[in-house]
Amino acid sequence: MKVSELGEFGLIDLLARMVGASRDEHLLIGIGDDAAAWQGDTSIQLATVDSFIQDVHFPSGTASWQELGWKALAVNLSDIAAMGGLPRYALVSLALPKDTEVDDVTALYTGMLELARQYGVAIIGGDISRAPLVAITITILGNTKNRGEHILTRSAAKPGELVAVTGGLGAAAAGLEMLTKKLQFDPQATACFKGASLHPYPRIAEGQLLADQGVKTAIDLSDGLISDLNQICKSSQVSARVEIDRVPIEPMVKAEFSEKSLELALSGGEDYELLFTGRAEVIDRVKRAAACPITVIGEIVAGREGVTLVDSKGNPFNLGKVGWEHFITR
Ligand SMILES: [Mg+2]
Repeated sequence: MKVSELGEFGLIDLLARMVGASRDEHLLIGIGDDAAAWQGDTSIQLATVDSFIQDVHFPSGTASWQELGWKALAVNLSDIAAMGGLPRYALVSLALPKDTEVDDVTALYTGMLELARQYGVAIIGGDISRAPLVAITITILGNTKNRGEHILTRSAAKPGELVAVTGGLGAAAAGLEMLTKKLQFDPQATACFKGASLHPYPRIAEGQLLADQGVKTAIDLSDGLISDLNQICKSSQVSARVEIDRVPIEPMVKAEFSEKSLELALSGGEDYELLFTGRAEVIDRVKRAAACPITVIGEIVAGREGVTLVDSKGNPFNLGKVGWEHFITR
């Protein structure tokens, strides 16, 4: 069987079964969440790794090397945000074609360092090898603030909880459409879409706020709202209903993409916002404490149907595709 037949998530399940459950008494979370977690002496420790590959994660020629550096690190920090943790250290593994310009590599690091300094992350090592395509693989080590602190996982959602999301959705996917299809927009929309696609800000402070306010379940939006909410459903063994009219589509995306904007917001991916669940009073506390918009978009229900979309009358709503999965061509 080819990996394309099994799919990214099928392959992860297969490898997770091979690895098996760890007997390590300190391990809290192994394969299957945004980051691994184990109990350290003074706090919960977190580790995550992500690759950023030319022509898979970024089309050639659509981003500068500096933008690539920022984004490659940002998507990794977002996984630590999804656990409610603080990112601390980064290890950077680069694969580069041999004719890569040195100036391009230093520009890549300039972008990474700009973000790393803003978030107090130290780049402490890595590796470089030759390859036919550019691949940037970053490992992040982080931790929670205190030993007693709990972390956010994908597996704690319960029926009756509300589903909520930070910020607005769809602008990163709009940016990818704009850059790959060379679409023209006015300068304000161009800046919004490009910024969302190439210069995302990981929700580190918000992830900690969620943990502080009693949220237990979260994921960062990398693959798309439906796909990522499905991961929560799968890990928590629950289902979710999302009211499409409540999805906070970025106004600029609505204005420029009209009927396609919902699809960009639901399955476009790469928004790097946090999707989380909690009882109504917990979500209210988060709303009061957060500096960014928090929007309730649906609820967790019992059952194993995954994500159901409904319109304002509660009728099922069908959207063709369901987010990004590696190996399966959309
Ligand atoms: Mg993630």
